[in-house]
This record gives sequence, C-alpha cells and structure tokens, in this order.
Amino acid sequence: MQQTFSERYEVVVVGAGHAGNEAAVATARMGLRTALVTLNLDLIAQMSCNPAVGGIAKGHLVREIDALGGIMGEVTDAVGIQFRLLNTSRGPAVWSPRAQCDKKQYRIRMRQVLEKEPDLTIKQAEVVDLILEERTASDPAQARHSIRGVLLADGRTIGAEAVIVTTGTFLNGMIHIGERTFPAGRSGEPASVMLGEVLRGLGFRCGRLKTGTPPRLDGRTIDWAAFEAQPGDPNPTPFSFRTERIDREQVRCHIAYTTDRTLEILRENIERSPLYSGQIEGVGPRYCPSIEDKVVKFPDKARHQLFLEPEGLDTYEVYVNGMSTSMPIDVQAAVVGSIPGLDRAEIIRPGYAIEYDAIDATELVHTLETKRVKGLYLAGQINGTTGYEEAACQGIMAGINAACAINDLEPVVLDRTSAYAGILIDDLITKGTDEPYRMFTSRAEFRLNLRIDNADERLTPIGRRLGLIDEEHWRCFRDRQAQKERVRAFLEAHRPSQEDPSANEIFQALGSHGGRNTLARLLRRPEILMKHCQTLVQAYCDVELRPPDWKAIETEVKYSGYMQQQRKQIEQLRRAESRRIPDSLAYGQIPGLSREVVEKMELVRPSTLGQAGRIPGVTPAAVSILNIYLTSSKRAAVNG
Ligand code: FAD
Repeated sequence: MQQTFSERYEVVVVGAGHAGNEAAVATARMGLRTALVTLNLDLIAQMSCNPAVGGIAKGHLVREIDALGGIMGEVTDAVGIQFRLLNTSRGPAVWSPRAQCDKKQYRIRMRQVLEKEPDLTIKQAEVVDLILEERTASDPAQARHSIRGVLLADGRTIGAEAVIVTTGTFLNGMIHIGERTFPAGRSGEPASVMLGEVLRGLGFRCGRLKTGTPPRLDGRTIDWAAFEAQPGDPNPTPFSFRTERIDREQVRCHIAYTTDRTLEILRENIERSPLYSGQIEGVGPRYCPSIEDKVVKFPDKARHQLFLEPEGLDTYEVYVNGMSTSMPIDVQAAVVGSIPGLDRAEIIRPGYAIEYDAIDATELVHTLETKRVKGLYLAGQINGTTGYEEAACQGIMAGINAACAINDLEPVVLDRTSAYAGILIDDLITKGTDEPYRMFTSRAEFRLNLRIDNADERLTPIGRRLGLIDEEHWRCFRDRQAQKERVRAFLEAHRPSQEDPSANEIFQALGSHGGRNTLARLLRRPEILMKHCQTLVQAYCDVELRPPDWKAIETEVKYSGYMQQQRKQIEQLRRAESRRIPDSLAYGQIPGLSREVVEKMELVRPSTLGQAGRIPGVTPAAVSILNIYLTSSKRAAVNG
C-alpha cells in the first residue's frame, strides 16, 4: 500500500549539529530539497564542549571540508576569537590550525548560513521512528529495507529518498555528575530514546561510549594575574581557502596548573567518581581523559596543565580545558579552589560525563550508507567518533553520497592517500571503534601528501564537479593554481646569476656563488628558504600568491625526493584499492580462508582488496588467498 506523508522532501537530515549541518548544506547545494530536523532550533551547531575548532589533525579535516565546499571553515573564520597554527616546530605535514570561537556567535552564524540555502528547510521536532519498506532481496549482502521517511513525535510523517541520522551523544544519553545520574542528550537537552530503540530493533550493533566536559567558571571571579597569558598568532591562519585574511582583534587564553592539593582532593574522593564507582560503563576517550582519570592513570605526574579559555566576547564564561570531570559538584568546587588564582572562582556550570549509544560503524559502507537499510546514512558521533571536525567531515561525505545516490551519480569515496576524511571513514567502517575515535596525523600513511596547504588541490575539483564550489571561488582557485604552476616551472628552470640584484637574498643566505644550480636545487638546501627566493621569482613571474601558497611550493620542492618515493607507494596502495570485491562474495566458499577470517570478512564485507587487508585480524596470507581467488573467478568468468 502506498504510504501518504504529511510532507515530502528528497532528503531528511536528523540533527543540526556539526555533522547534520554539513550534510544538509551539501545535499541542498547539490539541488535536493532537504529538511533538517532538530530538537531545538536555538541550539543549532551547539558546541557541546570546548568552543574551539581545529587542532592537530582536526585542522586538516576542517581544511578538507572547506576544500570540498563545506561550511565549518568559513563559519570559524567569521567568529574565531583566537587563532593559532599548531605544531610549527615540526614539519609542515603536521602543521594544523586551531581557533577559539565565540560559542554563541558560532551558532548564530551557522544558522544564518543554513537559512541562506534556498533548498533547505529547518524544522524543530523529534524524529522518533524511521519509515521503511521491505525489499525483496535474494542476495544476502543486500539491505532488507529501504528508507521511505521519518515519523516525528508530534505524529507528522516526512517522506524522503534518503535519511541521514546525525544524533551525536543523544541516543540513550545518560548524564553523570557524581552520584547523580539522569537521561539527557547533553546538558539541558532530552535524550533521544525512541530513535535509539528503533535502531537497536533493526539489529544495528551498538556500543556504549562516554565523554565528558569540564566546569565553566565566572571570569569575573578569576585572578587573571596569577596565570601565564597565551596570545593568538600575530598573523592568524584562516581555515577557509575562501577567507582572504582575519583582521579581528584576538583574545588571550591563560595557562594554569593543578597543585599538590588538587591531586590530593581528587585521590581522596576517587570513589565518588562515577567512573570509578562502576556507575559508568561506557568507554571514554583514552587520549582525552578526565582529571580524575589523569590522577589515577598517571600517578607519578606532579601536575597537569590546564587552559582557561573564554567562551565568547560578550560573556564572562570561561572554559577550563583539561579539567573534564564527572565528580560531584562539591568536589569540583574544591578542585577548582585548590588552584591559586581560582581560589575565589565561581562555577557557573558544573562538568559532567555523558554515556550514549554509538552504532558500530562496520554496519556502514564507505559512503556512510548503512548495510541494513538502503538510503539510510549515519554520520558524526553516532558512528563512535568524538569531535566537531570528525563529525562535520562525515556529515559532508554522507550528504554528498546521499545526493549522488539520488541523482544517479557515482559515489564519492576518498581514499586514504587523498584525504584524512578518507582515512577517518575507512578506519571506522573497516575496524569499527571500541573507544571514541579521534583523528591523529599518525593515522595517515602518507602524511606529507595530506597537508593543510594542499587540501584545495586535492579536493576542490571534486567539490566543483559536485556543485559545491561556486563560480567565483572556482575561478580564484584555478587562478591560484595557474600561478603556482608558473612558480614551480620557474624554480625548475631558472639558474640565478650573481649579476642579478633580485637574487641577492639567495646569495647572501648561501654565502657562496651557488654553482649555477637551478632555483629548485638551491631550495633543496637547508639554508635556503622560499623567502630568500621570493623577490627573484616575483621579478620574473607575474604572481600574487598568499603566504600559505609560497609555503606549499617550498614544501613540495624541499621534499620532492621523498614525495616521489611516496608516490610509488601510493600507486601500490591504489592498485590494491582498485581490486574490487563483489558485494555478494561468499567468503565461506573460498578454500584456505580460516573460519575466523571468513567471519571478519563477512562482518565488514570489504569493497576492495586494500580494505580487506586493513581489517584487524586479517593476515597478508589471507589477502593473498583472496586475491588469487578473485583472479581465478574472473578468469573463469571470462572463459565462460
Ligand atoms: P551533535 O553536535 O551532538 O548534534 C546532534 C544533533 O542531533 C543535535 O542538533 C540534536 O538536537 C539532534 N538530535 C538528537 N536526537 C534527535 C532526534 N531524535 N530528532 C531530531 N534531532 C535530534 N569532543 C571532543 O573532541 N573533545 C571533547 O572533549 C568532547 N567533549 C564532549 C563533552 C560532552 C559533554 C559532549 C556532549 C560532547 C563532547 N564532545 C567532545 C563531542 C562533540 O561535542 C561531538 O563529537 C560533536 O558535537 C558531534 O557532532 P554531531 O553532529 O555528531 O552531534
């Protein structure tokens, strides 16, 4: 029987957090009528924890989202109040931007961006059920259901061809503050219980994860003179390739440390922590432990660093980075008070921990579509990640792929060699995660290839093809690329002469005549930097590049030998990735595969030989057996 709906859209996105907003903008910009349904319109893009975007490896993700045509970077540039480029003492592959944002302005700005999209409608409602249609699939690898729409708590139904669920920490969320525990999606918001039950009912494997947040203080009650100030960079590095520059005045953060007394208080009260009393069962992020966790896990550490970060320009609320805790409020107050300079500080919001359901991401394929329900996509913290950037990057990829599926276009799957976004998704859907997953640069096999300065070269052509990059920005991108090409060619061809005054800086830095080498060869020497060559290049090439573009060219030239080597390895990996495995392959029938490997392969159903090799527990020998099997079945098919 044909279902009738109260309303119809092509795509419904559930949740207007960091994943949902990117997903909805992507589908709308790809021409699909999209409804973005969220529990509270005033909390669109709420930063549940730290009001900061970026950081090591996370900054890379934001650059990639931006290069594809996403919105997180430009919103951050518009409302950032302190910008820092991190890791600059190390190689350029791991430099990463971070910005402290004005939390309220971030929400306001993001909502403005969403409201400008003509094909996007925002609705305040709770989605309580998924409307499905049974499929007649004879093939065991095929989904048993297709999505048809969603049911809202008020009884309305919305029909859609694709539904993207991005409910963050809301599925069966449970907050813990000391002995107190109550259901919530995050502080002050209800948990999403019904939708959680629906997903479990459909058979999705779930895990229980946990995250936490620190207390917020009243800035007027802090003795700021007691702390070391941490200013932003004098020349802020924008996140978006479309932001010319950031001229806004920046705020300062402050650095603090725990004291002996802080650690004593935490130790004395450790049994009151829900983490250690057995009240919390969910697994928390190992690399971002709560303050009580730090005391237990690093007993020899005499003190722990904290950062006092303002939450905005027109508020006195201060975020205590590093003091995430689920201790009872009286203990939180004693901990805060044990730090000189915070002895009079008022807590205006207590810290808390939250446990929530996350879906095992091996339930998904690379497009973030679920294997169980065709047209149903999951993105963000629901897939076991933590962090706004990880969520946003899944959001844009889920949005792009939902739109591609509806528009009958090839899916967009970024591989591990072309984007951190590809690594994130491949890791999740291949290995799943038993603790909140965050991005690190160490997860990338070819880091030098995945820099913040070349994200546009890697991804903007894809964004343009999809309709996510408008004409003006595409023109700017192409123009910059052409200029960079001119500079590269000039560096390879030009041999500076000592008679040429525009080459003075190079010869000064060299301290010698340079032996008639090309500029590129000279630039490979450690003492020569791009800044020494710029006057000469500009004298011969008509270019107007930004500092990051000069830096990108310098990196490519300096590391060219190493990058060439990497390119060969990338080719090898791509060959393995291009060896596709049929969805319906009966692993049990492949001679020589152990039962354990068969079970693992059947659970993940890898789409390529490369992905099969990354499944934990799948040995190189098993991959080789699979490869031989694929070759012989292909041969058998050809020979009829
Ligand atoms: P969210 O931003 O949580 O958005 C979820 C959206 O779904 C909301 O808009 C909500 O209204 C909507 N929604 C939920 N259920 C329904 C429904 N049934 N119908 C309609 N709409 C619905 N990350 C870190 O990297 N470091 C940290 O230290 C850290 N600490 C955290 C502490 C806390 C207490 C919390 C809550 C989160 C923390 N995070 C941290 C995680 C970070 O906030 C998330 O990773 C990020 O916000 C996830 O984005 P998202 O889009 O997946 O979900």
